[in-house]
Parts: sequence; C-alpha cells; structure tokens
Amino acid sequence: MELLFLGTGAGVPAKERNVTAIALQLLEERGATWLFDCGEATQHQILRTSIRPRRIENIFITHLHGDHIFGLPGLLGSRSFQGGETPLTVYGPKGIRAFIETAISVSFTRLKYDLQVVEIDEGTVFEDERFAVIAKQLDHGVPSYGFRVVEKDLPGTLLVDKLKALGIRPGPIYQEIKLGKTVKLEDGTVIDGREFVGPPQKGRIVAVLGDTRYCEASIELAKEADVLVHEATFAAEESELAHDYFHSTAVQAAEVAVRAGAKKLILTHISSRYQGMLSEQLLVEARNVFPNTELAADFSSFAIARKK
Ligand SMILES: [Zn+2]
Ligand SMILES: [Zn+2]
Repeated sequence: MELLFLGTGAGVPAKERNVTAIALQLLEERGATWLFDCGEATQHQILRTSIRPRRIENIFITHLHGDHIFGLPGLLGSRSFQGGETPLTVYGPKGIRAFIETAISVSFTRLKYDLQVVEIDEGTVFEDERFAVIAKQLDHGVPSYGFRVVEKDLPGTLLVDKLKALGIRPGPIYQEIKLGKTVKLEDGTVIDGREFVGPPQKGRIVAVLGDTRYCEASIELAKEADVLVHEATFAAEESELAHDYFHSTAVQAAEVAVRAGAKKLILTHISSRYQGMLSEQLLVEARNVFPNTELAADFSSFAIARKK
C-alpha cells in the first residue's frame, strides 16, 4: 500500500505543482490502483510513473471544482485506447455523471470497458471483503467529500509448527483449523482451531480529504488513521483568507491530525504563492503542532506499512 502524489497544487496548474490527483497503490493487496481526484493533465503525470491506467479500478472524486476533475475525460478515454478492458467505477458528488457522460458523448469517445458512475452520499460508498470506503461531507462551499479507506483485518497465520509438533499433518484439515473451527482428529481428539492461529493482522486506515475548512467531519474521517492526507492551501498568517475561500491552513490540518489521533499527516493542495523554499514554511508550521507531518510534492510517494 503506497500513496503516490500526481498533483499537489491548488486551483491552477503551476510549473512546480500540477493540480490535484493522488494514487493509492494497492498492487499487493488487489493488483489495482485507486485514484483520488483527477485534475487536468493527470494522465500526463501518470506517464512519468509506473501506474498503468488499465489497472485503475476505482476513482474517488472529492468535489466538482475543475482543479479536481478536468483530467477525467482524457484519462477515461486513454484508458480504453491503452487496452483497459476491466470495469472502472467513478464515485463522486451529484453532477459527476452529467459531466462524464457529456464529455464522452459530445467527443464521440467510445470506451471498450464497463464504466460505472456512482453519485455518492455520506456513508459507505464502497465495500468488499478486503476494503471499505466511507465518505463524509466537509465544509467547502460546494459539496466536498472526504474518504476514509479502511483495510479489513486479516486473519492470523496458521501456526504450522505447533500443529506438526502434535503430529497433525498438513491436509484439508489445516483449512478448517485456520478458520478457527473446532476440529475432531482421526484418533478422536478434539482441538480448538483458535489455539493454532496467530493474532489477526490489523488493517490500515487512510483518510484522503477534499478541499475544506477546518471541520469536525475531517476529524471523524481521520480517527486513528495511519495516514491523513489533508489540504494546506495557506500558511497560518492567511487564516482569514483560508476561511473566506473555504480552505485550510497547514496549522489547521495539523490540528485535525492531533484531534483525530492520526499517526501521520501529509499536506497537499498547496497554493502557488508558496513556491520553492516558501512551501517549507507550511511544513514548519504544521510540525510545530503535529511533528509527524510531511509535505507532498508532485511524484512523492509514501509507503504505508502494516502495524506490527
Ligand atoms: Zn482545489
Ligand atoms: Zn475546491
């Protein structure tokens, strides 16, 4: 599991930072990439990474501001052109369907794969046996969502040595034991499978939030998260500006991380007024409040290790 930032700027593309797109690489977990937002030229950014568009399985759109969606039509079309045949689902606020369908139909784009568009509300927007994604509305003037990606706990590993020590040989019975069932052996002995399975491996939690002012929903989404990705459009001295434009300062992002008990904070969506070393100011301000903070740059990546 790894986060790869494709665009980390706010509003308009800048030389140093393209507009927002974040990839959650789930190659080991499901052989797939998930995308959060898809600003203009995201597909150009992808060309400079190892991401394969045909591997993109889900795209979560936080909100419909152009700097978060103008890259979608191009990417969706190119994915088809580049041999993408597996289904793809786009999740986003009401209006995302009209945007995609209009762009595809007026440009005579033909997709060779099954494209689903899901207009979301708050709650669980995606769930299967390994992951769940929960959405909540933030505070951004237009409907803007944050997403909490929850990896489900994995069952513990089978304690093979312990079984062998009792003379229980590998076979179909190992499957039963691994499920924690009570099993009767050939000689009549009854064993409790739970005693032969290690502790469950905790799943990881990643919160990726859309543009927002400081708000309670952010804290709920980021509760105990391994990683919180939060916008930091402005420095602390511009907190009034941040409020007026429904954005956050780096310090406010850090306060969310503290109150949520998150383990790591990654700042993104940086205004182009903070170029080069100036952006370090945001990092310093946030670290004063929440030390384990990083400032994302385009193409920076962060591995998310499983808790021991
Ligand atoms: Zn934005
Ligand atoms: Zn916005």
